[in-house]
Amino acid sequence: MAYKITLIPGDGIGPEVVAAAQRCIDATGVKIEWETALAGLIAQEKTGELLPQATLDSIKKNKVCLKGPITTPIGTGFRSVNVAIRQALDLYVCLRPAKSYPGVKSYYKDIDLVIVRENTEDLYAGIEFEIDKPETKRLIEEIVQASKKKIRPDSGISIKPISKTATERIVRFAFEYAIKNSRKKITAITKANIMKFTDGLFLKTAREVAKDYEGKVVFEEALVDNMAMQLVQKPHNFDVLVLPNLYGDILSDLCAGLIGGLGIAPGANIGEGIAVFEAVHGSAPKYAGLNKTNPTAMISSGILMLRYLKEDKAADKLENSLKIVLAEGKSVTYDLKPHRDDPTAVGTKEMADAIIRKI
Ligand code: NAD
Repeated sequence: MAYKITLIPGDGIGPEVVAAAQRCIDATGVKIEWETALAGLIAQEKTGELLPQATLDSIKKNKVCLKGPITTPIGTGFRSVNVAIRQALDLYVCLRPAKSYPGVKSYYKDIDLVIVRENTEDLYAGIEFEIDKPETKRLIEEIVQASKKKIRPDSGISIKPISKTATERIVRFAFEYAIKNSRKKITAITKANIMKFTDGLFLKTAREVAKDYEGKVVFEEALVDNMAMQLVQKPHNFDVLVLPNLYGDILSDLCAGLIGGLGIAPGANIGEGIAVFEAVHGSAPKYAGLNKTNPTAMISSGILMLRYLKEDKAADKLENSLKIVLAEGKSVTYDLKPHRDDPTAVGTKEMADAIIRKI
């Protein structure tokens, strides 16, 4: 029986890298009936809505989705469609493995890290108060009264909620993932020394959950600023990292940098019995329609999807073919060549063709 899977092409380079991933996944022989759904700027053009209800319904029904990146203009009232999808479907885990592949140029070799990022709250909750709005002024007055601290009246305010409930489930997910995948160590990353009631709560809850796994997985703690340095200096000391939403976002890009850039790094957003697979990178608008960018991150997200579906043989087949193409370094996109203007670089589609030939 064929799987029915929602396919969101997305904005910018999305349609190109998603098509490449879709063709590679189909080439493994796993039977998939793809149900295309719109989200982002393209959905707005066609339906007047950034995130049509039909798209959410399709993911809810099919339970699995492969999604391209979606553009979010910075600093406008535009709501992030990515965050909206994660919140609407309660995809509370953002899982982002960062693994080195031979042939991909990078300052580091043999990186094998996994980021487990909380995906529903923290400064990403979208609770914000704009400068000079009456509700913002009222809020500032109340906070000043309650805290006896100063806030300048010409401030904007973003709220950072971190709950025991969300922390407990993300940390538990990280430990269960570690056990299932024979991982040895979990590092909980916060700024608990400064934000005592939010990051402090995250850390306290993580310590409590860790007690249930004593003797099975090592538990460590680190401050996010120090962690940024340690990841650059000695990334091999770490294994699984569990973090609140914003730090997870930032350190994901740092880890993508350790393995050769955003073109490589895959991801999954996972909830209870439902999952959306997408690359770490965004819609890279300046490369849209050029058949130029690297499909690896999207293809690797597809490999994560196949593993989620327990199609391990197909996942292995695709991963091995990808590894061969990367190691050969011939039919790869510009970002994987020694020089970015290398004339032997191939396009997104042609790199996918080379991977399919290896399958
Ligand atoms: P970006 O990841 O889109 O691109 C930054 C740079 O990384 C690009 O200019 C390019 O040099 C490189 N890059 C990205 N993907 C690549 C690929 N596949 N191959 C080769 N090089 C690649 O980040 P941005 O420019 O900060 O964001 C653009 C838009 O994407 C924004 O609107 C942002 O909100 C959105 N975004 C969406 C998602 C998502 O949908 N999950 C994630 C991140 C950013």
